Amino acid sequence: MEKAKNFILSHKVIRVVLWTAGVLAVAAVVISLVFSGRGDRTQTDTKVADNTVVVNVASGDTLSKILAAQGFNGTDINKIAEILKTKAGITGLRADRDKIEFAHDGGPDSPVSKITVLPGPWRRVELTCDDGGVWNCNAIDIERDTRLVYRQGEILDGDSFYLAGMRADIPAGILADVYDLLAFEMDFERDVRAGQKFSVVYEENYSDNKKIDNGSVIVVSFDALRGNVKMYRYRKNDKSVGYYDPNGNGAIKSLKRTPINNAKVTSSFSTRRKHPVLGFTRAHKGVDFRASTGTPIPAAGSGRVVARGFNRGHGNFVKIRHNGSFETLYAHMSKFAKNVNVGTAVRQGQTIGYVGSTGLSTGPHLHYEIIKDGKHVNPLTVKLPAIDNLDAANKKKFIEYRENLDKAIEGLVKNPKLFIQM
Ligand SMILES: [Zn+2]
Repeated sequence: MEKAKNFILSHKVIRVVLWTAGVLAVAAVVISLVFSGRGDRTQTDTKVADNTVVVNVASGDTLSKILAAQGFNGTDINKIAEILKTKAGITGLRADRDKIEFAHDGGPDSPVSKITVLPGPWRRVELTCDDGGVWNCNAIDIERDTRLVYRQGEILDGDSFYLAGMRADIPAGILADVYDLLAFEMDFERDVRAGQKFSVVYEENYSDNKKIDNGSVIVVSFDALRGNVKMYRYRKNDKSVGYYDPNGNGAIKSLKRTPINNAKVTSSFSTRRKHPVLGFTRAHKGVDFRASTGTPIPAAGSGRVVARGFNRGHGNFVKIRHNGSFETLYAHMSKFAKNVNVGTAVRQGQTIGYVGSTGLSTGPHLHYEIIKDGKHVNPLTVKLPAIDNLDAANKKKFIEYRENLDKAIEGLVKNPKLFIQM
């Protein structure tokens, strides 16, 4: 269903077109199920509210375990698993995220009359059983009302971007996403100074006028030392989503300059430096980031592991070959990630190991190298290729979208309490 809304903001009319999932009418058919018995509810994560039992899926829980605890027999468990898979695409439960409700419409001691699986706040999958023992499934997408909100902040003396972001009332999850995006373009050690301003536009999702969660970062802008860094989230004609600079060039680079978010640079790339352990002067072929032992180390880009091992200098290290001419190396690890071996394909952001202090190291940190065409380069300054640039048709559409969005944001800058209704 396609729908267009006009939203008046600061005397400007913005036309926002969006697609909302068709809302299915819910025919609430409540049929009593006949079961020989019900399991006792001894699970610690089970709450009894009125005539409904809510199970919050915990780690180690499976659908059959949960259903069995509610008194379902093997035949029903198989039928329910099958219909969830074929009708709702649910093949597994996610711990600490999914919920299952068991309704006992005939009172707390009556059989289960309806099972509702809640995979996140935006979907309900309702299961009812008819007199013939046939399970029916109704998957409902909950309509969400998305608002774009604007937050701006400023770095103060002795501040970090994280502290400034919190002060600007940017939720921690959104701030983490902003870090992830900016880590392609800037280095938080050298590029962050008092007086710099930044802004973020992100989605807030509402249902029945109640805020449920935050969505994606839509625009991020940061006045870095090397100039303003600005990125826009844009959905391409093929429906895939990416981030682009104001001119429509891909903002997501093949590699991240700072693989670990919010890690301070403790030693820069240089062709000559006094080695802290060896004492004599030699080149520092990478950048050191301070991080505590055990901090996950994400792959700076997608590629294939070409080395994983130990040597005297690097300690435990992993080397990845990326598309094109780049390789990255990560040293001093306390341990490697499971299933990361020579030959393993890794994706950008995947944990490959954990920070440590193995090899020639004075304390826990990540030593990170980028090797271009066989030569070590400075990770913080090397020119990195974009993964995804827009083609001509998308670029034209993007520029139009970006100009409209910029106009709408001008209104929010004047009055940050306003929001853009999507
Ligand atoms: Zn180093």
